[in-house]
This record gives sequence, C-alpha cells and structure tokens, in this order.
Amino acid sequence: MSTAVARDVAVIGAGAAGLAAARHLRREGHSVVVFERESLVGGTWIYTNNTEPDPLGIDPTRPVVHSSLYASLRTNLPREAMSFREYPFVPKKTGHRDPRRFPGHKEVLEYLKDYATEFGIGELVRFETVVNRVWRGENGKWEVRSRKRGGEEEEHMDEAFDAVVVCNGHYSEPRIAHIPGVDRWPGKQIHSHNYRVPEPFQNQVVVLIGSAASAVDISREIASVANQVHIASRSISDEEATMVPGYDNIWLHPMIERAHEDGTISFSNGFKIVVDIILHCTGYKYHFPFLDTKGIVTVDDNRVGPLYKHVFPPSLAPWLSFVGLPYKTAPFPQFEIQSKWIAGILSGRISLPSPEEMTKDIEAFYSSLQKCGVPKRYTHNMTGYQFEYNDWIATKCGCPQTEEWRKKMYSATSLNREARPETYRDEWEDEDLVLEAYQDFKKQIS
Ligand code: FAD
Repeated sequence: MSTAVARDVAVIGAGAAGLAAARHLRREGHSVVVFERESLVGGTWIYTNNTEPDPLGIDPTRPVVHSSLYASLRTNLPREAMSFREYPFVPKKTGHRDPRRFPGHKEVLEYLKDYATEFGIGELVRFETVVNRVWRGENGKWEVRSRKRGGEEEEHMDEAFDAVVVCNGHYSEPRIAHIPGVDRWPGKQIHSHNYRVPEPFQNQVVVLIGSAASAVDISREIASVANQVHIASRSISDEEATMVPGYDNIWLHPMIERAHEDGTISFSNGFKIVVDIILHCTGYKYHFPFLDTKGIVTVDDNRVGPLYKHVFPPSLAPWLSFVGLPYKTAPFPQFEIQSKWIAGILSGRISLPSPEEMTKDIEAFYSSLQKCGVPKRYTHNMTGYQFEYNDWIATKCGCPQTEEWRKKMYSATSLNREARPETYRDEWEDEDLVLEAYQDFKKQIS
C-alpha cells in the first residue's frame, strides 16, 4: 500500500467550493492556503447593494462586483437537499437566524460561516488577496501570483505550490443575449448580475429575457411595480403572447426578433411594443482571467476543457483541478465529493487513470453530447445525472452513495417549483422526505 503524501496546495476562492476543498484537503493531511479577494468567506452568498458601473457587465475593465444576489433572494432548493453531507444545514436557535426551509440568502451565508468555523478553515484563508496569475513554473510547480487588495500593482507575491484547486465561482461574468439592432435601440439594458431591487423598474415597460429560477423570481418581483413585463424565452414556441396565470401585467413570448431605433422591440410571434428596459437573465460565462495553462485548458463556447469528469485536465492532473463547474445540481454536496476525490488523489490514496485514458473518456463524453444534439455551451449542465456522477466519484473515494431522500427531494422540489413558481418555497408535499433527512442528520449531530 502506498504511503499518503502531503502536498502544498493553493485554493482559489473561499466560497462554498473553496471551503469544501480546504476542509477536505486539510483533512487528508495537505498544507492549504486559500486565496480570497473578499474580506469574509461565503462567495456568492455575500450580498451587496453595490452594482457594477456597466449594468450589462461586458466592459472588461469594469470594477467587478462578485455576487449576483438580489435583496429578496430565497434559496431555490430546500435546506436539507442543499446541505453539505457532513454538516447538516439545520435551523439554528441562536441569534437572528432564518429557520425557513427555503431561507433567505443571509441564512446561507451564516451557514457557510458556521461551516468554516466548525472545521477551522478561516485560519487557512488569506482575505482581501486577489490571485492575478497562476502558471506552471520551470520546475513543474504551480506559481501563484497574488496581491493584497488596495496594494500597489507591483506589490504582488509569487509563491510555489504542488497543486492548485480553482474554486472561483461562475456567476459573475454575464452572458448577454444577442439582439439584432440593439446598438441603435434607445432604451436601457441591464443583466440580472446587477439586479438588486425592483424600484428602478417602477412604471416601466420591461422585456426580461430568460426562464431559469432567478428569471422567474425577478419577473414576478418587477411586475409588482412595473407597468408591463414581457418575458422572452427560448422555451416558448412561436405562438401568440400568453399571460402568466395570476398576473395582469406579465406576458410570455418566444425570442426577440429585433430591436428598433424607434424604441420598439419585436418578437418572433409578431408582437411589437415600445420598451424602456431589457433585463438579461441569461446566465453567466466561465471565466478564469488569472489562469495561464499555455492553452491546455480553454473556455470554448462555455465549455471548460478538456476536463476529466469536469475536474481534471488530463495532461496537468492532478496538479490542477476545478471544483464546482457543473450546474443544475445541488452544489454543496457535489463540491464536497469532488473535494474529497481531489484530496485523495493528491495524497496518492486514490488513483486516476492515465492521461490517455482520461482523454479517451473526455472524447467519448463530448461525442455523446454531440450525438444527442447538446450544444457545447451545455457541457457542464448536469440535468438528470448529478447523483449518478456524485456516486461514481463517491465509489472512487470509498464514500457512501447519495441518500435516497436527497435524490427524491431534489426531484420533488423541481416538480413543485415548476407547478407553483410563486409558492413552492412555502408549500410542499414531501414532508416524509424531510423527516427522513432529519433522522439522518440526527445521527450526525448526536
Ligand atoms: P462563489 O460562491 O462564487 O465563490 C467564489 C469565490 O472566489 C468568491 O468568494 C470570490 O471572491 C473568489 N475569487 C474569485 N476570483 C478570485 C481571485 N482571482 N482571487 C481571489 N479570490 C477570487 N445554490 C444553492 O445550493 N441553492 C440556491 O438556492 C442557489 N441560488 C442561487 C442564486 C443565484 C442568483 C446564484 C448566482 C447562485 C445560486 N446558487 C444556489 C449557486 C451558488 O452559486 C452555489 O451555491 C455556490 O455558492 C457557489 O460556490 P462557489 O464557491 O463555486 O463560487
């Protein structure tokens, strides 16, 4: 049996992914430094009223605001299913905590702070420290160039590590819908990354593009103050505008056809209206401005690749890895299992296939996507197979498979969210699964 080896590992980011990575790397015996631009842990869950000066978030020189949360945000997953497996997300009786099953964003931030405290992760984090460049040095070690925030450009520090785990999040770099004619259209445009509260939309005619969970929430919130809200969604077929049930000022349309100089927007169903604001709820792009792999890892049409199981680039494995790239998942338990896998591989306790085998696996995965007509940009969309994926990694790690209640609860919530988009956070029918989850949690807490 091989002896476990301790490595020096840099983790970039102290959001939920970076915290899980730090926790499991250290547990495995590695030395860990976490680099974090902000002054506290929590990443996306650190709400701020601040927005970027460029409301569309496309100017590459803009000062970046990391979080995309809006003030009213409540989780779109129940706390039991969101929870890390080894640290149940149960309501706390102390302090001003939010005990709801789908709590507000502050409660998630508190949970992540508790997680960091529980496992002593704070002491590993260099706060207010931005990573500007990561590259492989001549000696094969990974160099990390960082700068204390507020310091001079020249005041950077270069340090060498055996391995780097990238956990920088992927909800900060807006993806914008292409709208023919929009350059000469006189209205305002904003991406949901810079949406915080509905007030600026008072009495406005708004076109909102998108249909994901946050688009659903924001459209309803804006409708409470706006004159009209027109949702343009790829998932609506080319038919006449329909009204959203329960609202007298929200319409559903297929995609926008064109923006016109006179202020009108036309849709592919023939509908036309003069619009004040276009709100892009069109998602985000993967972005690793600090990462220099000499072209080995690229972001091509939002595919980060080539990556074995969304984590390791074969020719740089296991010395470079990514936690948290997949979406349409319950993120925290997935971060946890990916982190355990990386930690175990770095110490030599768990083995990886050869680079050639990993490359073959990736090629097979990409060609299966192509055969099914899945565009490249959906490479990391895990709809329908997150638990199979997690369990595959769990087997490699010798960890237990996903709890049955968690799988069922995730599906039940998805169905409930679709059926009752306004009320799913307060009305549900999976109480039996909640009981099962708490029985499971009890074993861990006692
Ligand atoms: P982040 O939380 O984004 O953390 C990345 C960290 O890296 C940040 O702290 C950032 O400051 C730091 N960083 C980035 N670049 C650098 C650098 N160069 N140098 C130093 N530090 C750097 N998930 C759920 O489970 N339930 C939900 O209900 C839910 N709702 C969501 C709603 C919205 C609007 C959004 C945007 C996301 C939501 N998510 C939800 C997903 C959420 O993103 C994940 O839960 C999770 O928080 C992502 O963690 P992360 O660590 O990958 O990224």
